[in-house]
Amino acid sequence: MRKIAVLGSTGSIGRQTLDECARHPELFRVTALTAHANAGLLFEQIRQFRPEIACLTGGMPEEIPEGLRFCRFYPADQLEQVAVDADADDLMVSVVGVAGLKATLAGRRAGKRILLANKETLVAGGRLVMDACPDVDGQPTLIPVDSEHSAIWQCLQAAGPNRLSRIYLTASGGPFRTWSKEDIDQATSAQALRHPTWNMGSKITVDSASMFNKALEIIEAKWLFDVEPEQIQVVVHPQSVVHSMIAFKDGAVLAQLGVPDMRVPILYAMTYPDRVESGVPAPDFAALAQLTFEAPDPERFPAIRLAYEALRMGGAACAVLNAANEVAAQAFLADRIRMGEVYRTVSATLERLGAPKADSLEDVLEADRKARITAEEILKKVER
Ligand code: NDP
Ligand code: MG
Repeated sequence: MRKIAVLGSTGSIGRQTLDECARHPELFRVTALTAHANAGLLFEQIRQFRPEIACLTGGMPEEIPEGLRFCRFYPADQLEQVAVDADADDLMVSVVGVAGLKATLAGRRAGKRILLANKETLVAGGRLVMDACPDVDGQPTLIPVDSEHSAIWQCLQAAGPNRLSRIYLTASGGPFRTWSKEDIDQATSAQALRHPTWNMGSKITVDSASMFNKALEIIEAKWLFDVEPEQIQVVVHPQSVVHSMIAFKDGAVLAQLGVPDMRVPILYAMTYPDRVESGVPAPDFAALAQLTFEAPDPERFPAIRLAYEALRMGGAACAVLNAANEVAAQAFLADRIRMGEVYRTVSATLERLGAPKADSLEDVLEADRKARITAEEILKKVER
């Protein structure tokens, strides 16, 4: 029986994590839950899973419902403290945005194994996070949940002592895969939120449409698997069945396949190295008929190039890219800007701020703060 704390339990990843906990009560006990604003769902989850502690990070309502008094409620903004205090073996970090960085580091310092869905944490604080998560007694203390990175991780289980030589990071291409540059430029949030294959939270769905999701994942992969950026190649694969692949120097390639359902990588992180029933069927290949691959178009999806550029710049450039993208994605979701401005905002912010130093958590948070201000200034000039 493993004890698990879920940060961001009301989100898409958080809810699916709890679904798997409910499927396997003999394997998991939920000891802490957090949400940001969705008090109704958090309370329901507390009733069902009976954690010892909980937090509504955006601010508590006046009244805690009758019958939930067994749970200790932390005041707003206490994500980090929950990560530290939770009586848990595993910390599922499934909040959205760089808000997860401090909690991840704090939870790890308190001895928890990190199950990391929150990619912004690795993009902004990659070196800090990796330094905080070395293997202990040959066991990992950080396990990726993002489907591509889980796929690579799963393939690596079969690699033995061999190093991978290349990562093929697959991308669905999102809802604008076949759109012209002009149409993508003018696209609205309603159009971006219609993702063809994955059902996810709104921020990552916007990121998938702009392909900033893949940009973030390139950076995430660089840190998780200690590879050079040139070893990571994005391949557009519209069916989202091959979740990613690794190649070795003899030319052999290993891939991990499955229907697009996050419960598989979520549960694998929770039960690693074992596999248990997830409720997800294997793909029906005859019905699928074909799996296709194509190169991403750098003209229509320039975000991917920007990831390599930020990695080349080093320092806190990736934290700047991430923060500017969080601000731009939010503005896009609020219909303040069209899709084309998302890239232009991030690119202009990166150009203005360059690569601030990233020697400490404070440096990274400062770069994040400055990038948000800069991105907002840039946005104000172009918003509708
Ligand atoms: P959602 O938007 O669905 O959920 C986000 C969760 O975080 C909610 O519980 C939300 O609470 C909480 N939250 C929001 N803002 C804050 C904040 N400032 N501080 C603390 N908690 C906050 O996101 P997803 O589940 O889609 O994504 C979560 C993370 O996982 C992201 O980093 C995403 O990139 C990554 N990921 C997601 C995948 C997916 O399939 N969804 C796939 C791969 C990675 P409330 O509900 O109260 O607002
Ligand atoms: Mg992914």
